[in-house]
Amino acid sequence: MALFETEALILRTYNLAEADKIVVCLSRSAGLLRGVARGCRKLRNRFGAALEPFTLINLTYYEKENQELVSFRQVDILKSRFNLSSNASILTGFAYMGDLIIDFSPPHQVNDKLFRMALACFEAVSEKPEDLDAVLRYFEVWLLKLEGFLPDLRACANCHNAFRADEAVYLGADLSLRCAQCSNGRGGAVSKRLQTQLRTTERLSPAKFAEETRGASKETKREMAELTFQLIGRVLERMPRIRPRF
Ligand SMILES: [Zn+2]
Repeated sequence: MALFETEALILRTYNLAEADKIVVCLSRSAGLLRGVARGCRKLRNRFGAALEPFTLINLTYYEKENQELVSFRQVDILKSRFNLSSNASILTGFAYMGDLIIDFSPPHQVNDKLFRMALACFEAVSEKPEDLDAVLRYFEVWLLKLEGFLPDLRACANCHNAFRADEAVYLGADLSLRCAQCSNGRGGAVSKRLQTQLRTTERLSPAKFAEETRGASKETKREMAELTFQLIGRVLERMPRIRPRF
């Protein structure tokens, strides 16, 4: 049995038997982890309030060979989100991000970029709860990108010509973007404004993206939400379990 230590973001917890919990978290050095916290629901326990969802923790755990479920030994809070626990829309947004991470990430696969991106999104919303929607869009685009499902935003998937500034672009059923000529006008049109906004996510942090797109029109915001929703639905082959309103 080996002992490990890592930073981790708690995504979801389930009660197990009388006194235990299963905790699902995204860790920096071991990717998505599922672990048992024994005795954590007893009045006096070594975990205290550290296992609340969306808490950033320093985690020490045991891992047995060939067992997916690890065993939590010690948990220290690095950042609690207790101050947001009465804000229902923020909690729904956090739960939505947590669910998508669980749906998109294979267990035990290290992805430092995903960990840093997710953490930056949770932090941005914690700092400025009013930026929730913009941060969720940013999160969706980056999750799709990091897991290899975001279409090329700059060139046609068929003829490989760079998209022209005056031309509409179409999303095909295979999740690729094509120029007007190659798509023959079939598929969902993606406006220039949305293309610009999607590319903006690539060069900014979530907090900066939210700041920069605060003045974007309602239609562009809706178009972005519809596009990411459609892409995520096609990747998962179902709708997400939780979907914050937009
Ligand atoms: Zn083309």
